Amino acid sequence: MEFLWEGNVRKANPYTPGEQPNGQGVIKLNTNENPYPPPELVAEVLMDYNRDSARLYPDTNSTALTEALAKRYGVDASQIFIGVGSDDVISMLFMTFFNSSKPVLFPDITYSFYEVWADIYKVPFKTLPLDENFRMNPADYKIENGGIIFPNPNAPTGVYEPLELVEEIAAANPGAVVIVDEAYVDFGGVSCLPLIEKYDNLIIVQTFSKSRSMAGMRIGFAVGNKRLIKFLNDVKFSVNSYTMNHISQLCGAASVKCDVYFKNTLEKIINTRENTKRRLAELGFSFPDSKANFIFARHDVKNAGEIFNALKARKIYVRHWNKPRISDYLRITIGTDGEMDTLIEALKGIINHEQNF
Ligand SMILES: *Cc1c(COP(=O)(O)O)cnc(C)c1O
Repeated sequence: MEFLWEGNVRKANPYTPGEQPNGQGVIKLNTNENPYPPPELVAEVLMDYNRDSARLYPDTNSTALTEALAKRYGVDASQIFIGVGSDDVISMLFMTFFNSSKPVLFPDITYSFYEVWADIYKVPFKTLPLDENFRMNPADYKIENGGIIFPNPNAPTGVYEPLELVEEIAAANPGAVVIVDEAYVDFGGVSCLPLIEKYDNLIIVQTFSKSRSMAGMRIGFAVGNKRLIKFLNDVKFSVNSYTMNHISQLCGAASVKCDVYFKNTLEKIINTRENTKRRLAELGFSFPDSKANFIFARHDVKNAGEIFNALKARKIYVRHWNKPRISDYLRITIGTDGEMDTLIEALKGIINHEQNF
């Protein structure tokens, strides 16, 4: 039944996040969270938190966090925008910069939230097909457009494109803002951050949710030309000034200072990923080479949906999409070595079972 007022509703097709199962014995390899905790300094900030501070509104500029990031990445504080996770940052970027009747461009296989934002902000979009190896063709991005966004490395494929591709796209589109979503860049890619000095239309987005082990704290940021950041802040302060809560600001700033811990964590995950690639290949999986904290793999024989369900029955959660071009694939987050051992053993059981028939 429809109500009479429904004609005025902003109707949306929301993004579907991965499941957050809890309970004993669950192995969660479905939302690309980091299997290791944030650094000890973050625990100290939490333990030392004075509850009286909660009475006050937080700093609207997240000054401590912004300054820690500016120092870490060698940019001015005026070039940084902080948001409640990179989803909030990208949502603000869509609202601020993708405001044209020309289509916003992004790959056909990518983070499915982009389409949701285009839809909710009522901007047209056009998806450009990746090639059969899930690679982007920069020439595709030389058509009239109202903005461009893509992740690098891409999700859910893990494919990393070289900086020359980013540069070619930024250079070809001086009249549009180009957003590079670097949610996974710390796991082996090279950030295009230095290019923001050369291209005033380029903005990069990163998150604390994956490489920095803080998905629960909801911290994301964008870095770009200071005029881009000013426009972005004007829109943000027109929607909600107090987005970043005080505790997240303090924990985020603490985390940025622990670079040795950060690098050690990344090294462990990268090692586990490279080991997992070898073991998956031995079991008959193939996958595009991943520079992220997940592997996008298909099995030569066994159907992805069946493997997904069989893993779930063993309380191992991975991600599967029933969508064109990718329904044969599973996206498997890199967990600890122990979690990956359990996964590989389970996969052996599931695949051998098939071969017995
Ligand atoms: C995880 C992810 C994000 C969002 O992360 P937040 O937790 O909101 O910071 C953005 N883009 C891509 C491609 C992601 O995979």
